[in-house]
Amino acid sequence: MIIINKKENCCGCSACYNICPNDAIIMEEDELGFKYPKVDEKKCVNCNLCENVCPILNQRIKETRPKAYLCINKNLDIRLNSSSGGVFSALAEEILNREGIVFGATFDNNFEVIHTYIENKDEISKLQGSKYVQSDIKKTYLETKKYLEQDRYVLYTGTPCQIEGLQSFLGKEYSKLYTQDIICHGVPSRKIWREYLKKMTNNNVEVIKNINFRNKKTSWENFSMQINSDTNRYNKSHNKDLFMRAFLQNLILRDSCYNCKFKKYNRNSDITLADFWGISKIDNSFNDHKGVSLVIINNDKGRELLEKIKKQCIIKEVDLDNAIKYNKSFIKSVEQNKNRNEFFKNVDSKNIKVLIKKYTYSQGLIRKLIRKCINKIK
Ligand SMILES: Cc1cc2nc3c(=O)[nH]c(=O)nc-3n(C[C@H](O)[C@H](O)[C@H](O)COP(=O)(O)OP(=O)(O)OC[C@H]3O[C@@H](n4cnc5c(N)ncnc54)[C@H](O)[C@@H]3O)c2cc1C
Ligand code: SF4
Ligand code: SF4
Ligand code: SF4
Repeated sequence: MIIINKKENCCGCSACYNICPNDAIIMEEDELGFKYPKVDEKKCVNCNLCENVCPILNQRIKETRPKAYLCINKNLDIRLNSSSGGVFSALAEEILNREGIVFGATFDNNFEVIHTYIENKDEISKLQGSKYVQSDIKKTYLETKKYLEQDRYVLYTGTPCQIEGLQSFLGKEYSKLYTQDIICHGVPSRKIWREYLKKMTNNNVEVIKNINFRNKKTSWENFSMQINSDTNRYNKSHNKDLFMRAFLQNLILRDSCYNCKFKKYNRNSDITLADFWGISKIDNSFNDHKGVSLVIINNDKGRELLEKIKKQCIIKEVDLDNAIKYNKSFIKSVEQNKNRNEFFKNVDSKNIKVLIKKYTYSQGLIRKLIRKCINKIK
């Protein structure tokens, strides 16, 4: 049976939870707010399926020859409602046109992040946009298998570890399954997200109407966190919003994200999506500040899908090595913030906003200091 000796050796993909034939595993949140499998020994029959399916214990190496493209959805509304170039929506539309199913991350009624599926194009907005919190996979691997066995097309999207968890769970190739992962910075704690929302609403999370982690009103590059309720419209740049500061300064990520086994050149997914942060350096003429995606095609299935969305998107091949110079998270884990342990030690007894302010820096302040120094030198 699965035993987690070191937290960094579990990415929380839920493959073990989905495979257990006896429902002996639950995914339980630890004190930091990350889910880990917990086995009920009374129910366990020692079949070892959980260990055999774990993508960290059984790493699958694939040889691929990835190719990179810039990609922009021609529909401006779709692009503005997406994190980068709106490619996910185009892929989802293609699969839904085939009467297929699309899996991805959404908010539940309490703005917790969960995986779910959609069957209609008017539901795409549910999955659109990055939610920078670890998504709860629930039983979506089992649901995926069910639909594949009904001979339906399925597009499953998620973090690289979730895609490898799914593939490991399925244990074989399905011609009608397409997988899309992302270049992944890492995933923040569900608990910190919950606490942050409570602080933002004076413990009235139910007043929230919608949340956008990537509001592009100022620009794609200088995106902001937006939280709307009936009475309040919160909108703060990612440099200033405290949750985004904690996320981007690596204070609240899962242990496995600081030593990620899934960041690699040869990916197991068919398509990898990312923000094309280097676009201005590579070809500025494509940057209208409304969002450009970097698309990495890992195999023939990915190539076939990209071909199918050609009409809806502007697509141009770019040099992969050049493109990923600006997206280091493609192959390299981020470094743990040196204050992370101290932060989590205090999180139950102190105000999290005060703690985040204490343990992260404000980029605005740094810019001010640099300006002051330059003025002094002048
Ligand atoms: C946690 C996280 C970290 C990321 N880190 C980076 C990074 O370091 N560098 C980079 O270039 N890009 C990163 N991205 C990817 C980027 O933010 C965009 O998601 C990507 O460029 C696709 O954008 P889009 O415009 O095509 O589609 P969008 O509509 O913006 O993307 C929707 C897709 O994102 C998936 N998704 C949203 N939230 C989650 C979640 N919590 N868990 C799993 N899947 C989710 C949905 O299932 C759907 O497939 C990250 C995304 C997430 C969710
Ligand atoms: S060994 Fe088998 S029964 Fe026991 S927890 Fe793992 S999958 Fe479930
Ligand atoms: S299968 Fe996934 S959730 Fe289960 S132990 Fe392995 S990494 Fe953790
Ligand atoms: S950084 Fe790695 S371990 Fe963490 S969520 Fe992303 S793919 Fe999974």
